[in-house]
Amino acid sequence: MKKEDIIDSILSLYNDLDGNTVEITDDVYKRKSPIYDPPLVGFGDAHDGLFDEYKKTAVIGPWHMSPEEWLPGAETVISVFFPFSEDVRRSNRSGDQPSFEWLYGRIEGQAYIAVFSGKLKELIENNGAAVCVPSIDARFRSFKRGEGLDGYSDARPDTYGSRWSERHAAYVCGLGTFGLSKGLITSRGIAGRFTSLIISDKITPDKRPYSGIYDYCLMCGACAKNCPAGAITIENGKDHILCEKWLNRTAEKYAPRYGCGKCQTGVPCENCIPVKGCTDSASSAG
Ligand code: SF4
Ligand code: SF4
Repeated sequence: MKKEDIIDSILSLYNDLDGNTVEITDDVYKRKSPIYDPPLVGFGDAHDGLFDEYKKTAVIGPWHMSPEEWLPGAETVISVFFPFSEDVRRSNRSGDQPSFEWLYGRIEGQAYIAVFSGKLKELIENNGAAVCVPSIDARFRSFKRGEGLDGYSDARPDTYGSRWSERHAAYVCGLGTFGLSKGLITSRGIAGRFTSLIISDKITPDKRPYSGIYDYCLMCGACAKNCPAGAITIENGKDHILCEKWLNRTAEKYAPRYGCGKCQTGVPCENCIPVKGCTDSASSAG
């Protein structure tokens, strides 16, 4: 498929697929809002040297699979970012507890993305390409505190990661750079979720408009200030163990959902690239 046709298919699927809705209560009135605004799409070369870099323990680790390992004959990686809507972001800007809309977006929103990814895979396959979606592939695993990484001598007890990092794939595809909170700051900000597809069609990669991994981050520390777990510092970045403990507490309180996102809302990078100057109200929120 051509790049333009894939982008058109993604936007059509976004418009047509059910499940991208959350119920909002404004005072006493209830109304429906989208969980996500229309997605951003980026294309990367499956042979990009960064995928070899990611296998280094100092970056991610050897357990991170390359596009070729996911899909023999891989040529292109497509990264898709779903920005949380204004309603979802605004609901989570105050207090130290996650809003209902944020929890719903985190869990039901992720289920929507999984269905979206499966449908997109089918559509591209029907046009003749082989496709792998790592996040819904049976080989996908995520790791906490080094558990499940026994075969890797370099894995430490504070190792958190997975066999495929959506944020790192998005970085390759030109969608954005990392922030202090370890999220990826895109042109629609940091608050949102990703999926990606690895395909056998060769498509011209997008040019990355950055060279450093933190180019879009102000290092302002607003995410650290917002973090109810004290898991982020300017000096050391994010402590995944402290973050996980806080998320576990939200899981006990809000089961079957969990989430937090205070480092992604009410911060200058919430829905824009702060180093380029933001005009939206969220840029000055919180
Ligand atoms: S809040 Fe500030 S320091 Fe934290 S990721 Fe955003 S721009 Fe970077
Ligand atoms: S998700 Fe919450 S606990 Fe984890 S780093 Fe962000 S603000 Fe802190």
